[in-house]
Order: sequence, then structure tokens, then C-alpha cells
Amino acid sequence: MRADEGSLHLSYRVRIGGADWQEVAETVRIVLLPCRYGGARPYFICPGVVSGMACGRRVAKLHGPGRYFLCHRCYRLAHASQNEAVWDRGLRRANQVRRRTYERLRDQVLCA
Ligand SMILES: [Zn+2]
Repeated sequence: MRADEGSLHLSYRVRIGGADWQEVAETVRIVLLPCRYGGARPYFICPGVVSGMACGRRVAKLHGPGRYFLCHRCYRLAHASQNEAVWDRGLRRANQVRRRTYERLRDQVLCA
């Protein structure tokens, strides 16, 4: 993982439903919006493309139980369109680690 101004670049491996491990590279844009009472709050721009439509929603949280980190809506759409219902324990564990690392890195980047 690395970060530059306004983006997080993620590179990781996922294994879905007992298939082979896959390398995934994903870039997530980050924007800062002023808060009502001062300061600024970071938001992710959802990188999801579901059924050929780019999402681009501004969200505080991305969900990573599938192949990519996506907003809640994209994740549900993507999930519904794939046969990813069977998750082995290893994948869940890997995803948990991935999510924690992601959140930690995000916080480091955004609070620097
Ligand atoms: Zn989305």
C-alpha cells in the first residue's frame, strides 16, 4: 500500500470461494470536506464499477469482503451478481487483516 496526495494505492491478494489467489491493485481517491464546526473530514470516492457504471459516490466507509473495496451500495450489487456466497474461514481472516491494515493506513495518511 502506498499513498500520495489524495489517493490510496492498494495492492493485495484475494481468494474467493476456493478459487486461486488473485492479485488486485486498486486506487481509491480521497477528498476532504469541511466540517460544519470547523476542520475537515476525509471521504473516499468509491472506485466501484458495477454493470459498467462507475460509482464515484463519496463515502466515509468502504466495504472489503469481496474482491475490491467498495461503497455499501456497490458491494451489495456486486455481491448479488456473483457467486461468492461461500467464503472459507481463511478468506474471512485475510479480509479482516486487510481491512484493519487499510483503516490504519487510511488514518495515518489522513491524520498526518
Ligand atoms: Zn460505490
